[in-house]
Amino acid sequence: MKVAVIGAGAAGCFCAIALRRLLPDCAVLVHEAGPRPLRKVAVTGGGRCNLTNSFEGIGRLQEAYPRGWQLMKRALGAFSAADTQAWFEREGVRLVTQPDGCVFPRSQDAMEIVRTLLRLMERLGVEVRCGSRIDDVRAVDADAVVVTTGGGALRLLEGSGVALEPPVPSLFTFNLGDDPVRALAGTVVENATAALAGTKFRAGGPLLVTDWGMSGPAILKLSSYGARYLAEQGYRAQLLVGWLGDRADAEVRERLEALFAENPRKQLSSVRLPELTARLWQHLLQKSGVRAELRCAEAGPRSLSRLTEILQRDPYPVCGKSRFKEEFVTCGGVSLRDVNLQTLESKCRPGLYFAGEVLDVDAITGGFNLQAAWSTAMLAARGIASNKDRK
Ligand SMILES: Cc1cc2nc3c(=O)[nH]c(=O)nc-3n(C[C@H](O)[C@H](O)[C@H](O)COP(=O)(O)OP(=O)(O)OC[C@H]3O[C@@H](n4cnc5c(N)ncnc54)[C@H](O)[C@@H]3O)c2cc1C
Repeated sequence: MKVAVIGAGAAGCFCAIALRRLLPDCAVLVHEAGPRPLRKVAVTGGGRCNLTNSFEGIGRLQEAYPRGWQLMKRALGAFSAADTQAWFEREGVRLVTQPDGCVFPRSQDAMEIVRTLLRLMERLGVEVRCGSRIDDVRAVDADAVVVTTGGGALRLLEGSGVALEPPVPSLFTFNLGDDPVRALAGTVVENATAALAGTKFRAGGPLLVTDWGMSGPAILKLSSYGARYLAEQGYRAQLLVGWLGDRADAEVRERLEALFAENPRKQLSSVRLPELTARLWQHLLQKSGVRAELRCAEAGPRSLSRLTEILQRDPYPVCGKSRFKEEFVTCGGVSLRDVNLQTLESKCRPGLYFAGEVLDVDAITGGFNLQAAWSTAMLAARGIASNKDRK
Protein backbone atom coordinates (compact mmCIF):
# COMPACT_ATOMS: atom_id res chain seq x y z
CA MET A 1 0.00 0.00 0.00
CA LYS A 2 1.25 3.52 -0.86
CA VAL A 3 0.21 6.53 1.22
CA ALA A 4 1.03 10.13 0.27
CA VAL A 5 0.99 12.75 3.01
CA ILE A 6 0.86 16.34 1.75
CA GLY A 7 2.54 18.80 4.12
CA ALA A 8 5.35 18.02 6.58
CA GLY A 9 4.03 20.02 9.51
CA ALA A 10 3.04 18.73 12.94
CA ALA A 11 0.03 16.77 11.63
CA GLY A 12 1.75 15.38 8.52
CA CYS A 13 4.87 14.13 10.30
CA PHE A 14 2.92 12.68 13.23
CA CYS A 15 0.52 10.93 10.84
CA ALA A 16 3.43 9.49 8.79
CA ILE A 17 5.05 8.04 11.94
CA ALA A 18 1.76 6.55 13.15
CA LEU A 19 1.11 5.03 9.71
CA ARG A 20 4.50 3.30 9.54
CA ARG A 21 3.91 1.83 12.99
CA LEU A 22 0.36 0.72 12.29
CA LEU A 23 1.11 -0.56 8.78
CA PRO A 24 4.78 -1.58 8.60
CA ASP A 25 4.39 -2.75 4.99
CA CYS A 26 2.98 0.54 3.83
CA ALA A 27 5.22 3.01 1.94
CA VAL A 28 4.76 6.57 3.21
CA LEU A 29 5.91 9.56 1.13
CA VAL A 30 5.54 13.06 2.59
CA HIS A 31 5.45 15.95 0.10
CA GLU A 32 6.58 19.25 1.60
CA ALA A 33 6.39 22.49 -0.39
CA GLY A 34 9.01 24.26 1.74
CA PRO A 35 12.73 23.63 2.08
CA ARG A 36 12.47 21.80 5.45
CA PRO A 37 9.88 19.81 7.41
CA LEU A 38 8.34 21.15 10.63
CA ARG A 39 9.30 24.79 10.10
CA LYS A 40 6.30 26.05 12.05
CA VAL A 41 6.77 23.68 14.99
CA ALA A 42 10.30 25.10 15.35
CA VAL A 43 8.86 28.55 16.15
CA THR A 44 5.81 27.54 18.19
CA GLY A 45 5.37 28.89 21.69
CA GLY A 46 8.06 31.53 21.08
CA GLY A 47 10.58 28.77 20.28
CA ARG A 48 9.58 26.72 23.34
CA CYS A 49 6.71 24.73 21.74
CA ASN A 50 3.58 24.59 23.84
CA LEU A 51 2.76 21.13 22.55
CA THR A 52 -0.39 20.39 24.53
CA ASN A 53 -2.40 21.34 27.60
CA SER A 54 -3.55 19.55 30.75
CA PHE A 55 -7.13 20.69 29.90
CA GLU A 56 -7.67 21.27 33.64
CA GLY A 57 -8.86 24.85 33.11
CA ILE A 58 -11.34 23.81 30.41
CA GLY A 59 -14.95 23.23 31.44
CA ARG A 60 -16.60 22.60 28.07
CA LEU A 61 -14.60 21.66 24.97
CA GLN A 62 -16.20 24.59 23.07
CA GLU A 63 -14.19 26.96 25.29
CA ALA A 64 -10.94 25.59 23.83
CA TYR A 65 -12.18 24.70 20.33
CA PRO A 66 -14.74 27.27 19.12
CA ARG A 67 -14.80 25.42 15.80
CA GLY A 68 -14.64 21.64 15.52
CA TRP A 69 -15.21 20.78 19.17
CA GLN A 70 -17.44 17.83 18.24
CA LEU A 71 -14.63 16.36 16.14
CA MET A 72 -12.14 17.09 18.92
CA LYS A 73 -14.32 15.20 21.40
CA ARG A 74 -13.88 12.09 19.27
CA ALA A 75 -10.25 12.80 18.41
CA LEU A 76 -9.31 13.33 22.07
CA GLY A 77 -11.24 10.18 22.95
CA ALA A 78 -8.98 8.30 20.53
CA PHE A 79 -5.74 10.13 21.36
CA SER A 80 -5.90 12.43 24.39
CA ALA A 81 -3.59 15.07 25.79
CA ALA A 82 -2.37 12.45 28.31
CA ASP A 83 -1.65 10.08 25.38
CA THR A 84 0.31 12.87 23.69
CA GLN A 85 2.41 13.44 26.78
CA ALA A 86 3.03 9.72 27.22
CA TRP A 87 3.91 9.43 23.51
CA PHE A 88 6.57 12.16 23.61
CA GLU A 89 7.94 10.98 26.96
CA ARG A 90 8.30 7.46 25.55
CA GLU A 91 10.39 8.98 22.77
CA GLY A 92 12.68 10.56 25.38
CA VAL A 93 11.22 14.11 25.58
CA ARG A 94 10.83 15.19 29.19
CA LEU A 95 7.86 17.50 29.66
CA VAL A 96 6.79 20.10 32.15
CA THR A 97 3.27 21.39 32.86
CA GLN A 98 2.96 25.05 33.87
CA PRO A 99 0.43 26.12 36.52
CA ASP A 100 -1.79 27.46 33.67
CA GLY A 101 -1.96 23.95 32.14
CA CYS A 102 0.38 24.64 29.19
CA VAL A 103 2.77 21.74 28.51
CA PHE A 104 6.31 22.37 27.18
CA PRO A 105 9.42 20.23 26.72
CA ARG A 106 11.50 20.54 29.90
CA SER A 107 14.37 21.77 27.69
CA GLN A 108 12.11 24.74 26.71
CA ASP A 109 13.35 24.11 23.19
CA ALA A 110 10.94 23.50 20.30
CA MET A 111 13.81 21.98 18.33
CA GLU A 112 13.70 18.98 20.67
CA ILE A 113 10.21 18.20 19.32
CA VAL A 114 11.37 18.78 15.74
CA ARG A 115 14.43 16.52 16.17
CA THR A 116 12.35 13.79 17.83
CA LEU A 117 9.86 13.66 14.96
CA LEU A 118 12.60 13.82 12.29
CA ARG A 119 14.58 11.02 13.98
CA LEU A 120 11.51 8.80 14.16
CA MET A 121 10.59 9.42 10.54
CA GLU A 122 14.11 8.52 9.47
CA ARG A 123 14.23 5.42 11.66
CA LEU A 124 10.85 4.22 10.39
CA GLY A 125 11.74 4.81 6.74
CA VAL A 126 9.31 7.64 5.99
CA GLU A 127 10.41 9.41 2.82
CA VAL A 128 10.15 13.23 3.00
CA ARG A 129 10.40 15.09 -0.30
CA CYS A 130 11.02 18.81 0.31
CA GLY A 131 10.39 21.42 -2.39
CA SER A 132 7.50 19.25 -3.57
CA ARG A 133 4.39 21.42 -3.76
CA ILE A 134 1.20 19.59 -4.71
CA ASP A 135 -1.14 21.85 -6.69
CA ASP A 136 -3.98 19.41 -7.27
CA VAL A 137 -4.80 16.61 -4.88
CA ARG A 138 -6.40 14.63 -7.71
CA ALA A 139 -3.00 14.28 -9.43
CA VAL A 140 -1.39 12.38 -6.53
CA ASP A 141 -0.71 8.72 -7.26
CA ALA A 142 -1.29 6.74 -4.03
CA ASP A 143 -3.77 4.33 -2.46
CA ALA A 144 -4.54 6.88 0.22
CA VAL A 145 -3.74 10.60 0.43
CA VAL A 146 -3.65 12.59 3.68
CA VAL A 147 -3.88 16.36 3.27
CA THR A 148 -2.07 18.11 6.13
CA THR A 149 -1.27 21.43 4.48
CA GLY A 150 -2.23 23.61 7.47
CA GLY A 151 -4.47 26.66 7.61
CA GLY A 152 -5.28 28.59 4.47
CA ALA A 153 -3.43 26.23 2.07
CA LEU A 154 -6.56 24.97 0.32
CA ARG A 155 -5.76 25.55 -3.36
CA LEU A 156 -4.87 21.93 -3.96
CA LEU A 157 -8.46 20.98 -3.02
CA GLU A 158 -10.16 23.32 -5.50
CA GLY A 159 -12.22 21.37 -8.00
CA SER A 160 -11.97 18.19 -5.92
CA GLY A 161 -15.56 18.46 -4.70
CA VAL A 162 -14.42 18.77 -1.05
CA ALA A 163 -16.54 21.43 0.71
CA LEU A 164 -14.48 24.26 2.18
CA GLU A 165 -15.29 26.89 4.81
CA PRO A 166 -13.61 30.18 3.80
CA PRO A 167 -10.39 30.71 5.77
CA VAL A 168 -10.14 33.73 8.08
CA PRO A 169 -7.51 34.49 10.75
CA SER A 170 -8.00 33.79 14.44
CA LEU A 171 -5.92 34.75 17.52
CA PHE A 172 -5.20 38.44 17.08
CA THR A 173 -5.14 41.58 19.17
CA PHE A 174 -7.45 44.58 18.74
CA ASN A 175 -6.47 47.97 17.31
CA LEU A 176 -8.31 50.83 18.97
CA GLY A 177 -7.35 53.70 16.64
CA ASP A 178 -6.36 56.78 18.67
CA ASP A 179 -8.41 55.88 21.76
CA PRO A 180 -6.93 57.63 24.85
CA VAL A 181 -6.66 54.28 26.69
CA ARG A 182 -3.50 53.63 24.63
CA ALA A 183 -1.71 56.14 26.90
CA LEU A 184 -2.00 53.40 29.57
CA ALA A 185 0.07 50.95 27.49
CA GLY A 186 1.63 48.32 29.74
CA THR A 187 -1.33 48.22 32.15
CA VAL A 188 -2.31 44.64 33.01
CA VAL A 189 -5.59 43.66 34.66
CA GLU A 190 -5.38 40.08 35.87
CA ASN A 191 -9.04 39.15 35.63
CA ALA A 192 -11.09 41.11 33.12
CA THR A 193 -13.87 40.24 30.71
CA ALA A 194 -14.01 41.23 27.05
CA ALA A 195 -17.16 41.04 24.95
CA LEU A 196 -18.33 42.13 21.51
CA ALA A 197 -21.39 44.40 21.80
CA GLY A 198 -24.56 42.95 20.28
CA THR A 199 -23.20 39.38 20.23
CA LYS A 200 -22.80 36.48 22.65
CA PHE A 201 -19.00 36.46 22.16
CA ARG A 202 -17.41 36.93 25.55
CA ALA A 203 -14.12 35.84 27.15
CA GLY A 204 -12.39 36.25 30.48
CA GLY A 205 -8.81 36.37 31.73
CA PRO A 206 -5.85 38.73 31.89
CA LEU A 207 -6.09 41.83 29.70
CA LEU A 208 -3.20 44.00 28.56
CA VAL A 209 -3.39 47.58 27.27
CA THR A 210 -0.88 48.04 24.44
CA ASP A 211 0.31 51.06 22.49
CA TRP A 212 -2.01 50.05 19.63
CA GLY A 213 -5.02 48.84 21.61
CA MET A 214 -5.71 45.73 23.67
CA SER A 215 -4.16 42.29 23.95
CA GLY A 216 -3.72 39.51 26.52
CA PRO A 217 -5.47 36.15 26.92
CA ALA A 218 -8.99 37.64 27.26
CA ILE A 219 -8.65 39.48 23.92
CA LEU A 220 -6.99 36.55 22.10
CA LYS A 221 -9.77 34.24 23.27
CA LEU A 222 -12.42 36.75 22.18
CA SER A 223 -10.74 37.05 18.75
CA SER A 224 -10.97 33.28 18.45
CA TYR A 225 -14.62 33.05 19.52
CA GLY A 226 -15.61 35.92 17.24
CA ALA A 227 -13.15 35.21 14.37
CA ARG A 228 -15.74 34.75 11.64
CA TYR A 229 -18.07 37.50 12.90
CA LEU A 230 -15.19 39.99 13.10
CA ALA A 231 -14.05 39.10 9.57
CA GLU A 232 -17.60 39.72 8.31
CA GLN A 233 -17.62 43.09 10.10
CA GLY A 234 -14.31 44.12 8.51
CA TYR A 235 -12.75 44.07 12.01
CA ARG A 236 -14.93 46.96 13.13
CA ALA A 237 -16.89 46.32 16.30
CA GLN A 238 -17.53 47.63 19.78
CA LEU A 239 -15.47 46.01 22.51
CA LEU A 240 -16.96 46.03 26.02
CA VAL A 241 -14.46 45.57 28.84
CA GLY A 242 -15.44 44.42 32.32
CA TRP A 243 -12.52 45.57 34.44
CA LEU A 244 -13.40 43.52 37.53
CA GLY A 245 -14.06 40.18 35.80
CA ASP A 246 -17.32 38.31 35.64
CA ARG A 247 -19.46 40.02 38.30
CA ALA A 248 -23.06 41.13 38.69
CA ASP A 249 -23.74 44.88 38.47
CA ALA A 250 -25.15 44.83 42.03
CA GLU A 251 -21.92 43.40 43.42
CA VAL A 252 -19.79 46.05 41.69
CA ARG A 253 -22.06 48.81 42.93
CA GLU A 254 -21.88 47.46 46.49
CA ARG A 255 -18.10 47.38 46.35
CA LEU A 256 -18.02 51.01 45.21
CA GLU A 257 -20.46 51.97 47.99
CA ALA A 258 -18.30 50.21 50.57
CA LEU A 259 -15.13 51.87 49.23
CA PHE A 260 -16.71 55.31 49.33
CA ALA A 261 -18.21 54.71 52.80
CA GLU A 262 -14.74 53.81 54.14
CA ASN A 263 -13.19 56.98 52.70
CA PRO A 264 -15.91 59.67 53.01
CA ARG A 265 -13.55 62.67 53.05
CA LYS A 266 -11.22 61.54 50.27
CA GLN A 267 -11.64 62.62 46.66
CA LEU A 268 -12.72 59.93 44.19
CA SER A 269 -9.35 60.28 42.44
CA SER A 270 -7.45 59.21 45.56
CA VAL A 271 -9.33 55.96 46.30
CA ARG A 272 -9.54 52.90 44.06
CA LEU A 273 -10.42 49.23 43.97
CA PRO A 274 -7.35 46.98 44.38
CA GLU A 275 -7.84 45.32 40.96
CA LEU A 276 -7.22 48.62 39.14
CA THR A 277 -4.07 50.69 38.80
CA ALA A 278 -4.30 54.35 39.84
CA ARG A 279 -3.88 55.47 36.19
CA LEU A 280 -6.61 53.15 34.96
CA TRP A 281 -8.98 54.39 37.67
CA GLN A 282 -8.26 58.03 36.65
CA HIS A 283 -8.98 57.08 33.05
CA LEU A 284 -12.27 55.42 34.01
CA LEU A 285 -13.34 58.34 36.21
CA GLN A 286 -12.71 60.74 33.35
CA LYS A 287 -14.50 58.55 30.84
CA SER A 288 -17.52 58.12 33.12
CA GLY A 289 -17.97 61.87 33.38
CA VAL A 290 -17.99 61.66 37.20
CA ARG A 291 -15.88 64.50 38.67
CA ALA A 292 -12.60 63.16 40.06
CA GLU A 293 -12.46 65.96 42.71
CA LEU A 294 -15.78 64.87 44.21
CA ARG A 295 -15.50 63.63 47.80
CA CYS A 296 -16.54 59.99 48.25
CA ALA A 297 -19.38 60.99 50.62
CA GLU A 298 -20.76 63.21 47.84
CA ALA A 299 -20.96 60.43 45.23
CA GLY A 300 -24.73 59.97 44.77
CA PRO A 301 -26.74 57.25 43.02
CA ARG A 302 -26.10 58.72 39.54
CA SER A 303 -22.34 58.73 40.02
CA LEU A 304 -22.51 55.18 41.37
CA SER A 305 -24.55 54.04 38.35
CA ARG A 306 -22.12 55.65 35.90
CA LEU A 307 -19.08 54.16 37.59
CA THR A 308 -20.72 50.72 37.78
CA GLU A 309 -21.53 50.91 34.08
CA ILE A 310 -17.99 51.85 33.08
CA LEU A 311 -16.44 49.15 35.30
CA GLN A 312 -18.76 46.52 33.82
CA ARG A 313 -19.13 47.53 30.15
CA ASP A 314 -16.44 50.05 29.24
CA PRO A 315 -16.86 50.58 25.46
CA TYR A 316 -14.00 50.82 22.94
CA PRO A 317 -14.19 51.06 19.15
CA VAL A 318 -12.26 48.20 17.51
CA CYS A 319 -11.00 49.37 14.12
CA GLY A 320 -8.61 46.60 13.10
CA LYS A 321 -6.49 43.67 14.19
CA SER A 322 -2.79 43.00 14.77
CA ARG A 323 -0.82 39.78 15.03
CA PHE A 324 0.06 38.43 18.46
CA LYS A 325 3.79 37.57 18.47
CA GLU A 326 3.34 36.37 14.86
CA GLU A 327 1.20 33.58 16.35
CA PHE A 328 -2.11 32.92 14.62
CA VAL A 329 -4.26 30.07 13.39
CA THR A 330 -6.81 29.79 10.61
CA CYS A 331 -10.51 29.49 11.27
CA GLY A 332 -12.12 27.65 8.33
CA GLY A 333 -10.83 24.93 6.03
CA VAL A 334 -12.21 21.53 5.06
CA SER A 335 -15.85 21.43 6.16
CA LEU A 336 -16.46 18.78 8.81
CA ARG A 337 -19.85 18.04 7.26
CA ASP A 338 -18.09 16.29 4.41
CA VAL A 339 -15.67 14.28 6.57
CA ASN A 340 -16.25 10.96 8.32
CA LEU A 341 -15.48 11.96 11.91
CA GLN A 342 -14.38 8.41 12.86
CA THR A 343 -11.69 8.12 10.17
CA LEU A 344 -11.25 11.67 8.82
CA GLU A 345 -11.86 10.33 5.33
CA SER A 346 -13.63 12.56 2.82
CA LYS A 347 -17.24 11.51 2.28
CA CYS A 348 -17.10 12.57 -1.38
CA ARG A 349 -13.62 11.24 -2.28
CA PRO A 350 -12.85 7.84 -0.72
CA GLY A 351 -9.15 7.43 -0.03
CA LEU A 352 -8.68 11.14 0.74
CA TYR A 353 -8.04 11.99 4.41
CA PHE A 354 -7.39 15.20 6.35
CA ALA A 355 -5.61 16.12 9.58
CA GLY A 356 -4.46 19.26 11.39
CA GLU A 357 -5.28 22.87 10.71
CA VAL A 358 -6.49 22.23 7.13
CA LEU A 359 -9.69 20.99 8.80
CA ASP A 360 -12.25 23.50 10.05
CA VAL A 361 -10.93 23.06 13.60
CA ASP A 362 -9.07 25.70 15.58
CA ALA A 363 -8.47 26.59 19.18
CA ILE A 364 -7.53 29.33 21.60
CA THR A 365 -3.85 29.61 22.63
CA GLY A 366 -2.41 27.20 25.22
CA GLY A 367 -1.24 24.13 23.24
CA PHE A 368 -4.73 23.20 22.01
CA ASN A 369 -3.92 23.75 18.34
CA LEU A 370 -0.96 21.40 18.33
CA GLN A 371 -3.04 18.90 20.31
CA ALA A 372 -5.60 19.06 17.48
CA ALA A 373 -2.79 18.30 15.01
CA TRP A 374 -1.56 15.25 17.01
CA SER A 375 -5.05 13.85 17.72
CA THR A 376 -6.45 14.28 14.20
CA ALA A 377 -3.23 12.91 12.67
CA MET A 378 -3.59 9.77 14.81
CA LEU A 379 -7.29 9.48 13.89
CA ALA A 380 -6.48 9.71 10.15
CA ALA A 381 -3.66 7.14 10.43
CA ARG A 382 -5.99 4.73 12.26
CA GLY A 383 -8.71 5.47 9.70
CA ILE A 384 -6.38 4.46 6.86
CA ALA A 385 -5.30 1.34 8.76
CA SER A 386 -8.90 0.33 9.41
CA ASN A 387 -9.88 0.92 5.76
CA LYS A 388 -6.87 -0.79 4.22
CA ASP A 389 -8.64 -4.08 3.57
CA ARG A 390 -11.01 -2.19 1.30
CA LYS A 391 -8.15 -1.97 -1.23
C1 LIG B 1 4.23 31.61 15.34
C2 LIG B 1 3.24 30.54 15.74
C3 LIG B 1 3.36 29.98 17.00
C4 LIG B 1 2.46 28.97 17.40
N1 LIG B 1 2.61 28.43 18.64
C5 LIG B 1 1.78 27.43 19.02
C6 LIG B 1 1.95 26.77 20.28
O1 LIG B 1 2.89 27.05 21.04
N2 LIG B 1 1.06 25.80 20.61
C7 LIG B 1 0.03 25.40 19.77
O2 LIG B 1 -0.73 24.50 20.12
N3 LIG B 1 -0.12 25.98 18.57
C8 LIG B 1 0.72 26.97 18.17
N4 LIG B 1 0.56 27.55 16.94
C9 LIG B 1 -0.42 26.93 16.01
C10 LIG B 1 0.17 25.60 15.47
O3 LIG B 1 1.52 25.82 15.12
C11 LIG B 1 -0.60 25.08 14.28
O4 LIG B 1 -1.95 24.93 14.61
C12 LIG B 1 -0.03 23.71 13.83
O5 LIG B 1 1.33 23.85 13.47
C13 LIG B 1 -0.82 23.17 12.66
O6 LIG B 1 -0.15 22.00 12.18
P1 LIG B 1 -0.41 21.46 10.73
O7 LIG B 1 0.52 20.31 10.53
O8 LIG B 1 -1.84 21.25 10.51
O9 LIG B 1 0.00 22.66 9.74
P2 LIG B 1 1.43 23.35 9.51
O10 LIG B 1 2.27 23.24 10.71
O11 LIG B 1 1.11 24.72 9.00
O12 LIG B 1 2.09 22.49 8.36
C14 LIG B 1 1.60 22.47 7.03
C15 LIG B 1 2.75 22.12 6.10
O13 LIG B 1 2.23 21.89 4.79
C16 LIG B 1 3.09 22.48 3.84
N5 LIG B 1 2.26 22.74 2.63
C17 LIG B 1 1.28 23.67 2.49
N6 LIG B 1 0.73 23.57 1.25
C18 LIG B 1 1.38 22.56 0.61
C19 LIG B 1 1.26 21.98 -0.70
N7 LIG B 1 0.35 22.43 -1.57
N8 LIG B 1 2.07 20.95 -1.02
C20 LIG B 1 3.00 20.48 -0.13
N9 LIG B 1 3.16 21.00 1.12
C21 LIG B 1 2.36 22.03 1.49
C22 LIG B 1 3.57 23.76 4.54
O14 LIG B 1 4.77 24.21 3.95
C23 LIG B 1 3.77 23.24 5.98
O15 LIG B 1 5.06 22.73 6.18
C24 LIG B 1 1.43 28.54 16.52
C25 LIG B 1 1.31 29.11 15.25
C26 LIG B 1 2.20 30.11 14.86
C27 LIG B 1 2.06 30.72 13.48
